[in-house]
Amino acid sequence: MLYRVEGLVIRSTDYGEGNKIITLLTPTYGKQGIVVRGAKKLKSRYGSLAQLFTYGDFSYYKTGTLGTLNSGEIIESFRELREGLEGPAYAAYASELTDRAINDDEAAAHLFHQLKACQSALAGGKDPQIVIRAYEMKVVNASGYAPMLDECVNCGRQDGPFRFSAAAGGALCLSCKHKDPTALELEETVWKLLRVFSALDLRRLGNIAVRDSSKRQLQLALRRWMDVHLNLNLKSRNFLDQWEKYGDLLGERMKRPEPIPETEAGEGKV
Ligand SMILES: [Zn+2]
Repeated sequence: MLYRVEGLVIRSTDYGEGNKIITLLTPTYGKQGIVVRGAKKLKSRYGSLAQLFTYGDFSYYKTGTLGTLNSGEIIESFRELREGLEGPAYAAYASELTDRAINDDEAAAHLFHQLKACQSALAGGKDPQIVIRAYEMKVVNASGYAPMLDECVNCGRQDGPFRFSAAAGGALCLSCKHKDPTALELEETVWKLLRVFSALDLRRLGNIAVRDSSKRQLQLALRRWMDVHLNLNLKSRNFLDQWEKYGDLLGERMKRPEPIPETEAGEGKV
């Protein structure tokens, strides 16, 4: 049967001599694996179509589990996401997270639009530490593990303060916080952001200025949540962790620049 769909390439791996297998996230058929013959050959028309992050129009034949590309066209290449270090690190993480968190053939229209918006936001230079946290929340919700953020999961109390408990399923009020001694105490800003991200359509994400301490709490809260509920061991996350630490170091250095050593050039040197 011949299918024709729009999709985002969320995985691209070499396959045999000169071929690639790509995994698409599509709005109608969820994840689809497709063989792109000759994709690695220099003259291939479909080489760039088979690249990670590409948004395109794909038509393919499929009888078993894997499809075979018949033809295709790039709608948006997201070239910016392949440049530098930061963009690729975050975008690769978003792709891998999507690939691992959702099942094949699961209708994914909402998540498809969220991932596309995530890639656009990253390509457009929005703060990746906000974009990616908002997208993590979208993935968590799409997987059916949305945290309860507005009332205590144990007693239903609606007024805070709350602690954030991944194990208990979201907010715990102060009378119930003993249910999870590891529950996190989060800044009010972080609670607000978690609630905003949960309801937000990423296509409407503006620029939000968030303090570094809040970003760290946000990262920690979502990390704990995903570790408990999704339990994925993502390769791209290790790289991202290193990158974010590297970014921290860079920030430190920029705040306290090292004194410039006095140059000896031209001072009596021959
Ligand atoms: Zn309670």
